[in-house]
Amino acid sequence: MQIIISGGGIGGLTAALMLQARGHDVTVLEAVREPKPLGVGINLLPHAVGVLSSLGLLPALREMAVETTALVFANRHGQAIYRDPRGLGGGYEHPQFSIHRGQLQMRLWAEAAAKLTVISGQRVVNVRDEGRRAVAEIETADGPREMTADLVIGADGIHSALRRRLAPNEGPPCWRGVMMWRGTTWAPPFLDGRTMVQAGYSQAKFVVYPIGAPRADGLQLINWIADRRVREPVPGLTAPDRADWSRAGRLEDLMPTFGRWRFDWLDVPGLITRAEQMLEWPMVDRDPLPRWQLGRSTLLGDAAHPMVPIGSNGATQAIMDAQALADALAGSADLDTALAAYENERRPQCARIVAMNRREGLDAILDRVEALAPEGFTRLEDVIDPAEVAREINSYKAAAGHRVQGA
Ligand SMILES: Cc1cc2nc3c(=O)[nH]c(=O)nc-3n(C[C@H](O)[C@H](O)[C@H](O)COP(=O)(O)OP(=O)(O)OC[C@H]3O[C@@H](n4cnc5c(N)ncnc54)[C@H](O)[C@@H]3O)c2cc1C
Repeated sequence: MQIIISGGGIGGLTAALMLQARGHDVTVLEAVREPKPLGVGINLLPHAVGVLSSLGLLPALREMAVETTALVFANRHGQAIYRDPRGLGGGYEHPQFSIHRGQLQMRLWAEAAAKLTVISGQRVVNVRDEGRRAVAEIETADGPREMTADLVIGADGIHSALRRRLAPNEGPPCWRGVMMWRGTTWAPPFLDGRTMVQAGYSQAKFVVYPIGAPRADGLQLINWIADRRVREPVPGLTAPDRADWSRAGRLEDLMPTFGRWRFDWLDVPGLITRAEQMLEWPMVDRDPLPRWQLGRSTLLGDAAHPMVPIGSNGATQAIMDAQALADALAGSADLDTALAAYENERRPQCARIVAMNRREGLDAILDRVEALAPEGFTRLEDVIDPAEVAREINSYKAAAGHRVQGA
């Protein structure tokens, strides 16, 4: 099949590589004129790493990323509540990687550019069906143009133009009053140098993990995300500004809350004040759609199911979509049947994750401990039954598609 993918992000490029490997003729159209390694850290869960490994990318990932050994939940005093082993040490078939989003995108871009057609400066603004073909309407610096294909995939992110065809009255993303600041800082490694930590509770939380090997001076690039409730959630609330991945953040919005978060093992205000970059992003998502297919086009990744970034699901679920779509197209010669199979596999699962993350997903446990022991604890078991913590975390993981071997 001839396939056009609108959007050269992590989801679009992975889909392009998966589809090209199955023999399709794929063109990726990316709106940005000069793609740059934008963003800060993300986590690739083991099931997504399995997909990228099937494309031969495991050695590149090992070179670029940190193999995450564990996710530690802690209170806002830095006391550990639960340690969840991740990757191979956690019994998974594949590693989990903490990685710079922009570097991963550029690596996928190079891989795709070597194997198929990838064109930047092409903004797909609409798709229409003409008989059994889809026509992509494209804006470029040289004026409008059109391209036809058997299928157009909208992998064009949270502000997707192709999603708008399915939900014309949707408006801006939903916001429930939490703002996030993301930064990277060169700092000494903490814990084993490969652990991800979520500390705090829903009103104020600090997530931190390294995204590269230590350099010669011993410092490691540490990615952190500080989030804080700035408005009470009311129905219909939208973010103060358009969600924009490159909006700069300001220290004065963070220090009153996080300025005293000095743990034995991590200096949070030190990380914040020494950041090499700091970006602001409202914690937004969108309501799940009743369908992703419209004629000869479908959606994938954030265009299909933007979700609050809890549980490291953003890039992971986009990559899982890419695999499911490639499998579905291989499994049926009829396009409608294949697209229905893709949706049946992915849409309910992603809608579940959107809903779980709205209810704070994995972070709900942090709220319970904060409510029970706001000043910290001597022994966790005096506050909450550790088996209950484990049960709650494992039930989120199962619903989000984690697959531990032998479980
Ligand atoms: C610049 C940027 C920085 C990011 N930084 C982070 C981060 O630091 N941490 C994090 O957790 N997540 C970040 N994300 C989001 C994260 O990459 C996604 O949640 C996840 O990887 C799913 O990816 P996706 O491919 O579905 O969407 P995205 O990664 O958003 O990719 C969508 C792509 O489509 C392109 N596009 C948009 N509209 C059109 C159009 N009309 N025609 C053609 N192309 C179009 C965009 O330029 C982009 O390259 C960032 C996204 C972007 C675009």
